[in-house]
Amino acid sequence: MGDIKVVTRFAPSPTGFMHIGGVRTALFAWLWARKNKGTFILRIEDTDKAREVEGSIEHIIKSLRWLGIDWDEGPDIGGLNAPYLQSKRLDSYKKYAQILIDSGHAYPDPYTKEELDTFRKKSEQENKPFLYRDYRPKDFGVWDGTRALRFKTPEIKSYHWNDVVRGDLSAGVEALDDFILIKGDGYPTYNFAHIIDDLEMGVTHIMRADEFISSTPKFLSLYEALGITPPIFVTLPPILADGGNKKLGKRDGAKDILDYAKEGYLPQAMMNFLVLLGWNPGTEKEIFTEGELKEVFDINRIQVSGAQVNLDKLDWMNKEHMKKLLADEIQNNIFSYLPEEFQNEKLVGVVFERISKWSDVKSMIEAGELDCFSKSKTPHYDKTKLVYKNSTPEKITQNLKSVIQALEALNENDFTMENVKNTLMLIAEIEGNRGEVLHPVRYALSGKDKSPDPFIIASILGKNETLSRLQKAI
Ligand code: GLU
Repeated sequence: MGDIKVVTRFAPSPTGFMHIGGVRTALFAWLWARKNKGTFILRIEDTDKAREVEGSIEHIIKSLRWLGIDWDEGPDIGGLNAPYLQSKRLDSYKKYAQILIDSGHAYPDPYTKEELDTFRKKSEQENKPFLYRDYRPKDFGVWDGTRALRFKTPEIKSYHWNDVVRGDLSAGVEALDDFILIKGDGYPTYNFAHIIDDLEMGVTHIMRADEFISSTPKFLSLYEALGITPPIFVTLPPILADGGNKKLGKRDGAKDILDYAKEGYLPQAMMNFLVLLGWNPGTEKEIFTEGELKEVFDINRIQVSGAQVNLDKLDWMNKEHMKKLLADEIQNNIFSYLPEEFQNEKLVGVVFERISKWSDVKSMIEAGELDCFSKSKTPHYDKTKLVYKNSTPEKITQNLKSVIQALEALNENDFTMENVKNTLMLIAEIEGNRGEVLHPVRYALSGKDKSPDPFIIASILGKNETLSRLQKAI
């Protein structure tokens, strides 16, 4: 960017929780600022009071913080261009409204709702789209602030503009109209407010969703009337639901980003997942740390086509990031979900191998997958299943007896996973059929078709309980 300092912003409206799409916009804007050693601003666009949901601002801040996104200026920390709530910037909008009025680019809307409805009907009858500018009053009255203030489109013409992602775009004259700058309630519209804020805050790049493309000609006509050079437009691709081209549904991401936090996804994994929704590094690399992303992220590699959410991929990525954690951290997180009786260091590996996010530990417990490790939960099972493949009950009984005999020789303190394993393997070797030895032991200890290996179960249960379950099997 030469010597121009990059300034980006995330400008959510406080209308509820943050979902994947919103957070992805924030992430791209943030990464671009960080990569260029620029400034990232958080601005709250709270001028539509009817749509506002209480607590949203705190929720937005919490969501961004969870992900690890920080800002240089924002409502909670202030900054050079404070305030960062649009509702507190009304003076700015009035100032620019006056400039537009004085230059003949804005006028009070003289019509009542009924009159506008009549115009609308008329256009409909004439079979043409309703454009306010076709009914623009001849004489502009004085604006007293109680009526809506409209923009007088200076020149009805086609616009051509460039978007970093979409390339050259254009729209015909039908895209232009005299839109509202300030509503009757005194609050500005998005169309007006964001342009003034971006100007005053020195924003160089606008990252936003594609729903704003159709309004861009209007924005351009306003930039022109104000004599400002528009920022660079970076339109992000839509996010599509898992497994189809539909809009994002509840399961695949139109849910609160903080729900992912509650489910035990790692923020660094979520960041990694989000960045690949519409951006690619141009290499095969898929796992990125935050530090790497701040180096390699590039708006020139944002794709045009929709980005599909794939929740299996999120789980895979989460696991990859979990593997980077310190052993202690892994143990503490797993323990925080485990009932005390299972908080055994030996179980950490067993559990870790089977989860892709922390809350999976809870699911494992609920599914009874750890029951075999509980001394108090004697397994109940179908005894015919003790018999391995083509073997016979007699052979299995004999093997179990040999196992018991051998394990009995180990004293309590030597009843480690290693020793149990060596003992069982030796018998398996002598018998010449591994399955006929290991299967009945595993099944007798766990009572499950699928379970961790018998060595770890035995070492956790201890000598007494192990022998008692084997005895019972006989
Ligand atoms: N307040 C707008 C929204 O929430 C932001 C659009 C923009 O980034 O300019 O969708």
